[in-house]
Amino acid sequence: MIVLPGRVVGASAAAAALFGHDPPRTPQGHMMQSALQVLKAGQVFDGVQARGPGMVMIENGLLRDVDFTGAAPPEYATVTDFGADAWLLPGLVDAHVHLCWDASMDAVDHVTNDDPGTILDTARTAAAAALRTGVTTVRDLGDRDYLALALRDQVPPTQRPEIVASGPPITTLGGHCHFLGGEAEGSDALLAAVRERAERGCDVVKVMAGGGSMTPGSNPLHQQYGSADLRLIVEEAHRLGLTTAAHVHAADTIGDVIDAGFDTIEHFTFMTPDGAGLRDDLLDRVVKQRIFVSLTLGEAPGTPTPPPAIAARIEALIGVFTKVIASGARIVVGTDSGIGPSKPHDVFPSALVQLAELGMPTFDVLRSATTEGAEAVGLAGRKGVLRPGADADVLVLGSSPVADLSALTDLRAVYRAGHRLPGN
Ligand SMILES: [Zn+2]
Repeated sequence: MIVLPGRVVGASAAAAALFGHDPPRTPQGHMMQSALQVLKAGQVFDGVQARGPGMVMIENGLLRDVDFTGAAPPEYATVTDFGADAWLLPGLVDAHVHLCWDASMDAVDHVTNDDPGTILDTARTAAAAALRTGVTTVRDLGDRDYLALALRDQVPPTQRPEIVASGPPITTLGGHCHFLGGEAEGSDALLAAVRERAERGCDVVKVMAGGGSMTPGSNPLHQQYGSADLRLIVEEAHRLGLTTAAHVHAADTIGDVIDAGFDTIEHFTFMTPDGAGLRDDLLDRVVKQRIFVSLTLGEAPGTPTPPPAIAARIEALIGVFTKVIASGARIVVGTDSGIGPSKPHDVFPSALVQLAELGMPTFDVLRSATTEGAEAVGLAGRKGVLRPGADADVLVLGSSPVADLSALTDLRAVYRAGHRLPGN
């Protein structure tokens, strides 16, 4: 190979031209140890479609390039070829988690009463567990004392997923998840609550628009805030550059949440006193307005049943979810991980299998967990895609997730911010 100042000529000239990249050099012109990593595999799913054999190039934690032309990698790159059967895909996005919750029978007690240091340890363990399953981005929709933000500040990115956080959900006095510390009623208090979240560095405002089944005395069918309050919260959050997420189960409350302009609707169960009943008019509006629906899925095998309000309605909820999936609504997956034994922090792959079982084609499931998820949590372009400039969060699977989503548990490697996780 002939080396000219600042140029590479010879076997890798085409690749160097293709990628517009010259290897780093000493003042004497010698090539330095390269920081450029290349991952090759027989199939690449880029977040939108399967692209055939290809390679991704990683530098400084970002995707420098993605290539499907069959060009040789630059000679100075460190190349890892995972083989013809392997698939590369973007890291996954779980749109609804609770890192501070320990997934035990007593999760509410722990998150309410443990000291902040203990909760932070719980959250650190939870974040690491999610990352090991290939979840490289989570949206935390309910911590205590803004500890998900503390985790983000204190733990290096390579040891946790990217964290999009709401802080404590805004709720009524004594309302659903009041024990997390986010109680506020009346316009002044609600505006102050939204502003506090913006000042503390939250990315999203989470509102308990209705009651929930995790809180003693709270009823999922009960509406906590009227439409004027919901609209006020959304307007202020958007004015401050934050996205918005509404927890809601009852149909009437879902109508007010749509009116208010929330970015994502959590759960979307259409619960009724004796089951669940989809309202077609509301589903039509969600589809037309392209609002993200965050379905709560995923369950660890062999664990106790979900909360009574959910367990008693399983058949009806399956009916609702099946229709929602068939409607063409934009669906993302949230596990609600942490809230109980059926929701450990490594439950996300099972949620995707469930989504397919409810009727979503596997390609759409993969898009939902990558590009769509990233857009829903406010990170479009940075997460959920394999394209130049995106963060280098990359999964390597041993077989095709399109043929069988259980391939998501056949992880050969997880790269987070360009670093390969040890042990994968
Ligand atoms: Zn939740």
